[in-house]
Amino acid sequence: MQTNFTPAQLADPAMASSEKILRTCVHCGFCTATCPTYLLLGDELDSPRGRIYLMKDMLEGQKPASPEVVTHIDRCLSCLSCMTTCPSGVHYMHLVDHARAYIEKTYRRSPGDRLVRALLAATLPHRARFRAAITAARFAKPLKGVLGTLPFMGPRLAAMLDLAPAALPAKARAGRPRIFRASGARKARVALLEGCVQPVLTPSINEAAIRLLNRLGVEVVLAAGEGCCGALVHHMGRKASSHAFAAHNIEVWHEEIETGGLDAIVITASGCGTTIKDYGFMFRNDAKLAVKAARVSALAKDISEYLSELELPASTRPSGLTVAYHSACSMQHGQKIIDEPKKLLRGAGFKVKDVAEGHICCGSAGVYNILQPELAGQLRERKTGHIARTKPDVVATGNIGCITQIAKGFADRAKAGGPAPPPVVHTIELLDWAFGGPCPEGVAKT
Ligand code: SF4
Ligand code: SF4
Repeated sequence: MQTNFTPAQLADPAMASSEKILRTCVHCGFCTATCPTYLLLGDELDSPRGRIYLMKDMLEGQKPASPEVVTHIDRCLSCLSCMTTCPSGVHYMHLVDHARAYIEKTYRRSPGDRLVRALLAATLPHRARFRAAITAARFAKPLKGVLGTLPFMGPRLAAMLDLAPAALPAKARAGRPRIFRASGARKARVALLEGCVQPVLTPSINEAAIRLLNRLGVEVVLAAGEGCCGALVHHMGRKASSHAFAAHNIEVWHEEIETGGLDAIVITASGCGTTIKDYGFMFRNDAKLAVKAARVSALAKDISEYLSELELPASTRPSGLTVAYHSACSMQHGQKIIDEPKKLLRGAGFKVKDVAEGHICCGSAGVYNILQPELAGQLRERKTGHIARTKPDVVATGNIGCITQIAKGFADRAKAGGPAPPPVVHTIELLDWAFGGPCPEGVAKT
């Protein structure tokens, strides 16, 4: 694609990077075929190619974002399916990240939109606040009908209340150890990302990862002070906030690399993994953090990626259960991890089934299911329909957002008179069980 940025514009590293990306697009349109929003809406401006044109026009013309651009960029899931399909290697992720930050700087959203976004940014990345928000949501659930009719923000508030679980698992006890020693001789030492939302909603995921890694001779450290990776606010274009979260984690992990030594930084939420692997790019021009960020990114590994490099013993409990494996977009498109989780599950004695339209997003996409509840609902219904057709005993995936989204899809089907919902768990919970850990709660119940 031909571009006409001025030298002054290209002096800005973010603009220079976007210009380079825009130049690689050859308008072929192959990406439209695999874009979920184009699939649902059939509008060129809701396809990757259409959005690329809109972003080019906005950035090149140095225009404030228009309501039209904002509408179509907001509808993008950042699922990155287009990146997998693109034969020219267009780095859509870095382009849309830049465009979202540009929008936040140049566009004034409606009061309702601003309020919902501020609420999400202020609560989700902070464990204690998120826990308090879920408790408040439990009391507000009966008011969903009234709140859902509020102008501007009603459907989003209703989506938040719908997604909030009825109960939360117990909070990790204060003074819990930060280092989990390997059983037997130590073969490796890794840091595990605790993160923000996941340890509140489903602490059993990281507990399963720690148990299994320890049994395999890997010492696990939860680096003191580590927190949200910044992905949730990054996808809302809140650059200052996402960089602050990322910078904090980089310093914390770098300290751990320098003192105790780390063989990897292991992540059990693929949405977070995609962002942490991008820290090197995010801080490429930061004199203080560029080298440290690149080091952290180089060590970042999804749990399935890390386990695939280890020698796993024979499964102690080959259950023979049929597992529908849902590959999160951040796993397959963001990190290009496709076969590893399925191979691990098969090796552990599960019958693994692929899901039709596996490349299409389930609609979770960070906070997309709150900000775009209608489109997210359509994608959820489509996804759970495909999963249901595999007749699974259990559904496995590697991202907490997808777990919540798909579980809600199945719960809705059951409420509408469908069959009892299958348990939806993290891949690591099944692997831990197969190699000697406890049966995941949802699976045990069935
Ligand atoms: S597939 Fe790639 S090169 Fe073709 S239009 Fe889409 S982004 Fe551009
Ligand atoms: S990231 Fe996903 S939703 Fe956005 S343009 Fe690409 S394929 Fe479409």
